[in-house]
Amino acid sequence: MAVHKIVLFYGFAPLADPRAVQLWQRALAERWDLRGRVIVAEHGINATLEGTVENLKQYVKTTRTYPGFENIDVKWSDGSGADFPRLSVKVRPELVAFGAPEALQMGTDGVQGGGARLSPQELNDLVARRGDDVVMFDGRNAFEAEIGRFRDAVVPDVATTRDFVDVLDSGAYDELKDRPVVTYCTGGVRCEVLSKLMVDRGFSEVYQLDGGIVRYGEAFGDDGLWDGSLYVFDDRRHVEFGPATVPLGRCAACQAVTALYENCGDPSCSTLTLCCEDCAATHREGRCDACITERPGGTVRETRGREQRVEGALHATV
Ligand SMILES: [Zn+2]
Ligand SMILES: [Zn+2]
Repeated sequence: MAVHKIVLFYGFAPLADPRAVQLWQRALAERWDLRGRVIVAEHGINATLEGTVENLKQYVKTTRTYPGFENIDVKWSDGSGADFPRLSVKVRPELVAFGAPEALQMGTDGVQGGGARLSPQELNDLVARRGDDVVMFDGRNAFEAEIGRFRDAVVPDVATTRDFVDVLDSGAYDELKDRPVVTYCTGGVRCEVLSKLMVDRGFSEVYQLDGGIVRYGEAFGDDGLWDGSLYVFDDRRHVEFGPATVPLGRCAACQAVTALYENCGDPSCSTLTLCCEDCAATHREGRCDACITERPGGTVRETRGREQRVEGALHATV
């Protein structure tokens, strides 16, 4: 039986014609029977794709022939062959939607002026040297951190990546400006932008975890500074880095251990709530607190399947 894998990568490179790259990427993915999500923007490419090992290797090899994509760092993980319902290849104004495309200056080697890159080992060394002074700064949506995060991390209260600019401009984290701050996210792409936003706002010692949590988990499993599970935007829903992972997530209804999120029952709402299997059916029939307050007359969707859940999760990422 074919072995399925998932590749996660991004590459920053100035693209004169993102639409042409989109069409090329779609043709490649279709040719190699891949499913998942590719975003193309003027600043580069960001992709998560699943397929057989052989097909993914061909796809990666061909993608790397594109000027600027030669050195893309590809993270591989195990797939089931059914972790993505379909293929989506889109052109967007930004690779990750911070709402600040003008903050990025591109050079031949990617984003200029962002935080210094730390390998997983370099992060551990920094923490060993500087101890509690080091601030781990979560660059994801707050809900993602509920099931896993770096120990003692700062988790900004952001519902989408767009909220980061306002959170930083609010001054809420100004007291961190003189401390070593390490931003981290799933695979590193969000930190390319976030760390630059922080440098631009006067944070004096900013680092970014190169390769993100995925690379760190590969390197240290359960034995590093990471606690719990990693949220992923596909049907795996969460991944663990070793057999000894101590779960952090708790069902919002009954406090049982869980790493699963459920969409709000309101079709127009993308709020995800931690929910155990037992409470999931009840949760689907209801609406979240924010919905009830903001839209008292709202309704609950009639049927919910895998597609809708994944759509909700994808919606939450941008
Ligand atoms: Zn429960
Ligand atoms: Zn809701």
